[in-house]
Amino acid sequence: MSLKETRSTCPYCGVGCGVVIESSGDQITGVRGDPEHPANFGRLCTKGSTLHLTATQAVTRQTRLLQPMRRVQRGAAPHAIPWDAALDEASTRFARIIQAHGPDAVGFYISGQLLTEDYYAFNKLAKGLIGTNNIDSNSRLCMSSAVAGYKLTLGADAPPACYDDVNHARCLFIVGSNTAFAHPVLFRRIEDAKQARPALKIIVTDPRRTDTAGVADLYLPVLPGTDVMLFHGLLHIMLWEGWTDAAFIAAHTGGFDGLKAIVRDCTPERVAQTCGIAKEDLLTAARWFAGMDGHSHQRGPR
Ligand code: SF4
Repeated sequence: MSLKETRSTCPYCGVGCGVVIESSGDQITGVRGDPEHPANFGRLCTKGSTLHLTATQAVTRQTRLLQPMRRVQRGAAPHAIPWDAALDEASTRFARIIQAHGPDAVGFYISGQLLTEDYYAFNKLAKGLIGTNNIDSNSRLCMSSAVAGYKLTLGADAPPACYDDVNHARCLFIVGSNTAFAHPVLFRRIEDAKQARPALKIIVTDPRRTDTAGVADLYLPVLPGTDVMLFHGLLHIMLWEGWTDAAFIAAHTGGFDGLKAIVRDCTPERVAQTCGIAKEDLLTAARWFAGMDGHSHQRGPR
């Protein structure tokens, strides 16, 4: 049987590496990194490079439900039942609860691994047919704070940077992410950028000293729950030192005076104590983040 190659995307993490899937008939025989894909240029981490092994028949037969299974009671061994019987049972049970207690007595918690079309179908079922808003998924819960932050600060639900920025940045500020484990191919890119340009400053903020912290020029082991105070402290220093860009702020932001008022009392002393870090490290982080690598801390009036 002839070998076929299909370009696709690794589904495991947000780096979104391009893969070339090799298949023969309906069998996936191998996966390799797509050398032309801008996310990874051919690289894959262990998870991506072993993707095809998760698609072998031995694994899929073991781990995938190929037909509905039902337990007579909790703890009993499940046994296979036909699709029609399973759908009848599920809909009858739902209908009984809704008739007795109303539509808000049922809810759906669906998987973050579903496709957009699946989300649509489940939302239609819950909101359009059953009449309840009780539907949520782990993808919404895990991303909701980031989405709220992006919308509030940038006006759109999308981070504005791209991977290529890593090659041009003077300072990378990683907060609360163990990129080395969570996004390995992006981390390799960061390591390459650092090697090519040792002047690139990497700051890692995390209560845990992770592998990512291992590559940091400056590691800030803030106490859990104090990251907002850290950011307020950074802005306080940058305002005080005159390291902000007034023209940019006037042209592209709103509510800046309110923010200034919030950070007014976040002095380096207070922030360093609250976050549990050295004041000198906080000042260094602000200096690097503001692109003032060569400057010393001459505090003065704004
Ligand atoms: S970094 Fe690894 S897991 Fe993430 S998309 Fe790339 S190959 Fe997949």
